[in-house]
Amino acid sequence: MRIDHLIAGKPVAGRDYFTTVNPATQEVLAEVASGGEAEVNAAVAAAKEAFPKWAALPATDRAKLVRKLGELIARHVPELSQMETNDTGQVIAQTGKQLVPRAADNFSYFAEMCVRVDGHTYPTPTHLNYTLFHPVGVCALISPWNVPFMTATWKVAPCLAFGNTAVLKMSELSPMTASRLGELALEAGIPAGVLNIVHGYGKDAGEPLVRHPDVRAISFTGSTATGNRIVKEAGLKKFSMELGGKSPFVVFDDADFERALDAAVFMIFSNNGERCTAGSRILVQKPIYAKFVERFVARAKKIAVGDPLDEKTIVGPMISPGHLAKVRSYIELGPKEGATLLCGGLDAPLLPDRVKKGNYVLPTVFADVDNRMKIAQDEIFGPVACLIPFEDEADAVRIANDISYGLSSYVFTENIGRAHRVAAGIEAGMCFVNSQNVRDLRQPFGGTKASGTGREGGTWSYEVFLEPKNIAVSL
Ligand code: NAD
Repeated sequence: MRIDHLIAGKPVAGRDYFTTVNPATQEVLAEVASGGEAEVNAAVAAAKEAFPKWAALPATDRAKLVRKLGELIARHVPELSQMETNDTGQVIAQTGKQLVPRAADNFSYFAEMCVRVDGHTYPTPTHLNYTLFHPVGVCALISPWNVPFMTATWKVAPCLAFGNTAVLKMSELSPMTASRLGELALEAGIPAGVLNIVHGYGKDAGEPLVRHPDVRAISFTGSTATGNRIVKEAGLKKFSMELGGKSPFVVFDDADFERALDAAVFMIFSNNGERCTAGSRILVQKPIYAKFVERFVARAKKIAVGDPLDEKTIVGPMISPGHLAKVRSYIELGPKEGATLLCGGLDAPLLPDRVKKGNYVLPTVFADVDNRMKIAQDEIFGPVACLIPFEDEADAVRIANDISYGLSSYVFTENIGRAHRVAAGIEAGMCFVNSQNVRDLRQPFGGTKASGTGREGGTWSYEVFLEPKNIAVSL
């Protein structure tokens, strides 16, 4: 299979190609066009040309096309989820039931929303001020390899619905579903040039895209290191930066134990642990620490590791051999730093023949972790849990905040006052109380500190995809 760029509604061949590989089997899935400055320039020019007409369409007309794209995605869930699972190793139970259906929802949600964009008025005795929201223009949308389809559509849907045009760049490790998105967008009737896709590496395709003077806004999801680089390169553009995390999952001794345990297991092992909002630092109050550790390890040992196309698999392969090596290096480091390895580790999992060559690692649990250890401070981005004991509320908040990141957080307690105090005290963009991560498309999604700036979701997506303009009329 060959995947080309999509520029001005047409497939554009690459001057070079790279391969995308199934991380469970190492089989080559496709030859993918590798873009550079020339392709980026062509894509931005196409998006710039398409912008005035697309922006001028009545929102109801844009909404129809955007909704149609969502409907097409919903109709292709089996195909898209299988493609996503093969390209990323994310298990089919997640891609088929959660991630691809949610991508369809992103379009239906923003189709509803774009017809409701209104303005504000600020009347005074001498002037009538009113504020309009205009689309920004050409937007650069950059996606990482974990949950790539959901993330790309989370950007493409509001971007297009609000009247902007886009150049989408997927991760070089997971480009497949986005290329189908481009085809489905044309099938939905979205005009040529409104959604362009340039494939390629960050340095070759990403950098010229974020630097391009005709790009007015950047919506980036990826690592903190790349986010920092982009902010320096981009100059004066609007941007939203959704970056890395190392989120605290805090369990007090009065918590509903089983509920906390279920959520803790889910938040670190689902999506292969390759999840930005993973509850990767599990802070447990000392009176229940020993019991929690014992039960958590028992659950971790039972997690099904295997073929991501098997509905029963919970943990599939890591995205690439390079990423597997990174995860393994932290598993090697943990005991050297003084953490206690309770399960998992560097042994190879028992695997079905089809996926024997995959990039697998066992679900791993470290106990007695000190929050200052590197395994607690760095984003490992794999199925590796760090269990950290704490004394009391103040200690929990201190440890939770003793980190560069601030994306998500989780608090489990039956004490309502404490729940609110701790939720307010943790430095993070999101806090879930007595709950795993649940997405509501209206809520502000994003982080603080090294986890990023800006929020997306609901009206929060205005921040990057709409430009407010105030008009003051003398009366
Ligand atoms: P990455 O930063 O390596 O790459 C992300 C994207 O940026 C890719 O498309 C890549 O090609 C591109 N890129 C790389 N260098 C670039 C440059 N100089 N200019 C422009 N683009 C460039 O991240 P990754 O390894 O693909 O993804 C994993 C990271 O993403 C983790 O840190 C994870 O926490 C984070 N993430 C964050 C969220 C969130 O919402 N906060 C969601 C998912 C993933």
